[in-house]
Amino acid sequence: MDTIFHKIIRRELPADIVYEDDDIIAFRDIAPQAPVHVLFVPKTDLATLNDLQASQAEVVGRLAFAAARYAKEQGFAEDGYRIVMNCNDDGGQTVFQIHLHLLAGAPLGRFGTPA
Ligand code: 5GP
Repeated sequence: MDTIFHKIIRRELPADIVYEDDDIIAFRDIAPQAPVHVLFVPKTDLATLNDLQASQAEVVGRLAFAAARYAKEQGFAEDGYRIVMNCNDDGGQTVFQIHLHLLAGAPLGRFGTPA
């Protein structure tokens, strides 16, 4: 698979990377929807959440854990944050490598209203 996020992982595109390990990369969203908007992306190829197999469930757990750890490290965990994973058209997915959005830094209001 080859998406913008794969190019960021391979350092073919620049990004403001805030965390990386063998399994995950995290970088700031280019069009932030909140004062803090970081994307957590697995290095395992998975186009959408629909492609996740039972044996790969830990891939999503690692993303959530990394996001929560980042929130604690950055000092906004107690104030709170939101994590979002969009899937396919109705979910608003635009990049087809799964990723978790971490949004924080202000009260975020409600969500889920049809466009
Ligand atoms: P999705 O809509 O698929 O859930 O989220 C994709 C996200 O990737 C969007 O929030 C979009 O702003 C972000 N994005 C798209 N292209 C780039 C890029 O080249 N660099 C970075 N850092 N973020 C990007």
